[in-house]
Amino acid sequence: MIQFSHDPDAGTLYCYFTELESGQTDFELEYPANLLLDKAGHVIGLRLDLDDEITLAQLELALEHAGVELDMRYGHLRSSIADETPVTVIPLEAPALLDFDVDERLLGVDIAVPADLRTPERLERLAPYMVALDDERPATDARQPATDKPTFQHAAPDTQPALHVGFVALVGKPNVGKSTLLNALLGQKVAIVSPRPQTTRVPLRGILNRPDAQVIFIDTPGIHEPRHKLGQFMVELARRAIPDADIVCMMVDISTPPSQLDERIAAQVRRARVPRLLVLNKVDQRPREGSYLEAYRALGPWDMEVAVSALTGTGLSTLVDEIVARLPFGERLYADDQVSDQSEQHLVAELVREKVLRFTNQEVPHSVAVEVEEWQAKEQATYIRLTINVEKESQKGILIGAGGEMLKRIGSAAREEVERALGHTVYLDIWVKARPNWRNDPASLGWLGYRLKDWK
Ligand code: GDP
Ligand code: MG
Repeated sequence: MIQFSHDPDAGTLYCYFTELESGQTDFELEYPANLLLDKAGHVIGLRLDLDDEITLAQLELALEHAGVELDMRYGHLRSSIADETPVTVIPLEAPALLDFDVDERLLGVDIAVPADLRTPERLERLAPYMVALDDERPATDARQPATDKPTFQHAAPDTQPALHVGFVALVGKPNVGKSTLLNALLGQKVAIVSPRPQTTRVPLRGILNRPDAQVIFIDTPGIHEPRHKLGQFMVELARRAIPDADIVCMMVDISTPPSQLDERIAAQVRRARVPRLLVLNKVDQRPREGSYLEAYRALGPWDMEVAVSALTGTGLSTLVDEIVARLPFGERLYADDQVSDQSEQHLVAELVREKVLRFTNQEVPHSVAVEVEEWQAKEQATYIRLTINVEKESQKGILIGAGGEMLKRIGSAAREEVERALGHTVYLDIWVKARPNWRNDPASLGWLGYRLKDWK
């Protein structure tokens, strides 16, 4: 259980990830911090906005606690008492001081809180988690005197920029109108959303920018996959898109009755722990008979339903408003003139990984990480060296195959798609390495380059 202490004189709140002993703090780092409030304005915790200098291993002690969550996409470390989504996130003017021990493990965090946010009433919900401070407060022994702390400028909550940022999975069977909707939503914003010439030709995410929000629609890789049966593939797409999403929108065609495929996709959507929106498309079209609304509702429960016509534009602004209202607060993840986020390197690694999963069976499960090690644009072709990291020697054997046959297969299938995506000739130089247990070993993750930013 995480614990807190409040030092009224210093105006600080301390969050303990472990019981501190004096002298345990070896060094400190500063990071931006935010205070998390519930609906009633009570403090329920804090959020640190970390960057890729921090490794998972350093967060070991913090992540042991039930109330502590790391959102890899943003580098946000959230530490709160209640298993509830904070309603207000208040950025703090002074950075948090993060205490680390000699083993570089984060021990606790000190934040400076404006006076009006640490009244007894505001701190009411933290009360059960408060430890009393006496003069021998362990946390401060190895620290600077509190009076040396930077003075804090009070920032009123209602003057904070309320920017909603997050990922939206748009799922649904073929022909319900997903592409039309995305084009309509992004197309309306051409003034501020302009494609960058250098980005990949396969837009994997559509980014909708508004003054108050950045909505990132997830379109899972593999959409050009020709081999699966289409139905299976759509269910698979839904399954893959959902874990990354802050909101799931399931789109259906209200002018026709639900099919078995709608039911199967809905079954995936029901497993999402985030808000689920039912998007009833094609309201401009007269249903074949009666109304299918109840039948689609029954595929829920849904947090919200919105009737739209992606073709005529009816209901689209309502849909976007409903989405935005349910996204967490944050800072823009992409420049506001960007429509797609994927780097070419990442795309190529993903395409290779996809081929690995396609051509190998259960013996090479998801323990595959593909890294781009070298990328050289040459006159004839772009030379790309990649490593496929697996956990076991036996998996390495499978991936290479007899006489290197499997690796060749993976390579040529990947090359074909990479060339299509990049629009020029490539040479893929693929290596396979076995790194036992890399998935479970935070140090190895850091070593592989899986620092926080890469988990976006
Ligand atoms: P996707 O497969 O889900 O991406 O669906 P598409 O966006 O490709 O749309 C499939 C077909 O439905 C196209 O012919 C669209 O013009 C049509 N369509 C999409 N939205 C609407 C709508 O709101 N009303 C009507 N009448 N047709 C639509
Ligand atoms: Mg489509």
